[in-house]
Amino acid sequence: MTLVLTDVVLTYPDGDHTLTALDHVSLAVAAGEFAAVVGPSGSGKSSLLAVAATLITPDAGTVVITGQDVSRAGRTARTNVRRDHIGIVFQQANLLPSLTTLDQLLVMAHLAGQSPRTASVRARELLLAVDLGGKEHKRPHQLSGGERQRVNIARALMNGPEVLLVDEPTSALDHHRGEQIISLLAELTRNNGLATVMVTHDLATLAMVDTVLTMSDGSLTEGAATQVV
Ligand code: ADP
Ligand code: MG
Repeated sequence: MTLVLTDVVLTYPDGDHTLTALDHVSLAVAAGEFAAVVGPSGSGKSSLLAVAATLITPDAGTVVITGQDVSRAGRTARTNVRRDHIGIVFQQANLLPSLTTLDQLLVMAHLAGQSPRTASVRARELLLAVDLGGKEHKRPHQLSGGERQRVNIARALMNGPEVLLVDEPTSALDHHRGEQIISLLAELTRNNGLATVMVTHDLATLAMVDTVLTMSDGSLTEGAATQVV
């Protein structure tokens, strides 16, 4: 299994008390598996991704990424694991406004120490894979919402991650564009053997995933609950 969370507990301070965002959550995602997490707002879905992304250290439990236990790792080790093994796609594309499509990807490669020549070849391949050939020199404001989200996805794959974490990638898009993004994520997951976890509100797209998990009040269960939104 590429991504394994075991018995993860995460609490946030909440006035005099604590709020339990993740209540003994376990999850295992294999290479090439596309898993979707659904559930009501505030149920802990984004917290789950933040823990899997090594952005937040849980109070208890373990997070193992490509065989490496990162749950108690220090800041530098976590940053390295994130850079080398994890692709992250959040709701907002968060592209750098002044950079072209190609440069958004090359920045990632530069941070990871890839040679410019290798990076340039990979960036162009990825842009073709997300159907953005010909848009290499556009800046974010010259792209549609769906195109920006595709740049975001290509950027997340730039350093060849084994794990892809995606938080509500279609919330800023209309239904048709949203479906195209999910279908692209499914294809990339299979072609690159990624372990992908996607949080989504879009129940119509669940036919395209391998596994559906439901988050409810900090607990994760397999299958789609009937009442999810
Ligand atoms: P979802 O993504 O399913 O909407 P979240 O993981 O964002 O849920 O939030 C789970 C719970 O944790 C909610 O009650 C939310 O208010 C709370 N929460 C999320 N982030 C923080 C934070 N940084 N500090 C305090 N509470 C938080
Ligand atoms: Mg959320």
